[in-house]
Amino acid sequence: MKAYVLHGINDLRYEEVQQPDCPEGWALVKVKAAGICSSDIPRIFVKGTYHFPTIPGHEFAGIVERVGASEDEHLIHKHVGVFPLIPCRECQQCHDRHYEMCEHYDYLGSRRDGGFAEYVAVPTWNLVVLDNTIPFTHAAMLEPLSVALHAMKMAGVTDKSKVGIVGTGMIGICAAQWAKSMGARQVVVIGRNEQKRGLVENCGLDYLNSDNNDSTGMFDIVLEAVGTSQTIQQAITASVPSGKIVLMGNPASDILLKQDVYWRILRKQLCVSGTWNSSYDGTYLSDWTDAVEALKNGMVTVDPLISHLFLQQQLPDGLDIMLKHREPYCKVMTVWNN
Ligand SMILES: [Zn+2]
Ligand SMILES: [Zn+2]
Repeated sequence: MKAYVLHGINDLRYEEVQQPDCPEGWALVKVKAAGICSSDIPRIFVKGTYHFPTIPGHEFAGIVERVGASEDEHLIHKHVGVFPLIPCRECQQCHDRHYEMCEHYDYLGSRRDGGFAEYVAVPTWNLVVLDNTIPFTHAAMLEPLSVALHAMKMAGVTDKSKVGIVGTGMIGICAAQWAKSMGARQVVVIGRNEQKRGLVENCGLDYLNSDNNDSTGMFDIVLEAVGTSQTIQQAITASVPSGKIVLMGNPASDILLKQDVYWRILRKQLCVSGTWNSSYDGTYLSDWTDAVEALKNGMVTVDPLISHLFLQQQLPDGLDIMLKHREPYCKVMTVWNN
C-alpha cells in the first residue's frame, strides 16, 4: 500500500509499504478521508513522532476491509470513524473509564501508525460505526468535533450562558457551534484575522475582531483555543466576575501572565479549568456518540470548515499551506483510495 512514512524530523516520504497486520480484536480500515490536525505540523516538522518510522494522521475515517476475529465479521464493509487513543486499561483513569486521561496510552498517528495511509490497523473497540449517509470527509472530523464538545461540556454551557471563544481555528469554531446547539444566549468567536470572519459567519456564528473591539467583561464562559500568553490574558479579561475560563489551546512555549491579569483571576474569583481530548467508551454514550448524532441531524455544520480538499498524492501541499501559512485555512482534508 501507499503511505506517508515519517523517517525522521522533516523527513516524510510517500512510499510503498506493507499493509499492516490485523490480529484478533483488530480491524483493517481502508482509509477514505484524513484531515491534517494542526498538531501534525510540529509533529512532522519540529518534534517528530515517538519513534521512527511512523505513519502520522489521527483524524480519519474509512471502510472496514478485514477483521482479525470471526466474531467481528459483522464489521466488514461498515463505514467507520476512529477514536485514535488506545488506552492501557490498567491505570486508575482507565478503571474510572476516563480513557482520555490514560497514563500509558498508545495513539494512532503519533505513537503507532495512523491514517495517512491507504490502510490502517485499528482495535475494533476504537471503531465508531456510522450511517453510510455521513460523508467520509465529515466523519474524519469526528475527532476535533468531539474535542470541542468535551470542552463545552467542561464549561457547563446553559441557555443563560454568554460564551466567548478566543481563537478562530477549526476546534474553536466547532466549540462555538456546540455552545449554540446547547442553547447559549450569546456565542461570539473572538479573533484578530479578518480573513476568518467569512468562515465564522458561514457557520452561523458571530465574529468579533479583538484589534478593533473591547471584549472586557463580556462573557460568563470563555474558551481559550489558541494557547499563547496573550490569548490567555485576553480570555481572563473577557470574563465577568465569577466567570469560568476553560483552557484548551496547546501552548508552543511557556505561558506568562502579567501581574494585573493574574490579579483579575483572584479579584473576579474566576474558575479556571483545563480540558483534554474527548470522552469515548466503545459503544457507550460519550462525546463521540453525541458528535455522530450531531453530524447526522445537522446540529453542527462541518462542510464550510473544509477550506482545502486534496487527493492523497497532494497531502504535502496541504502540509505546506499549514506550515508556511501560505493562505488562510481551516480544515485541510485529504481523500484516499478514490
Ligand atoms: Zn488532532
Ligand atoms: Zn490507562
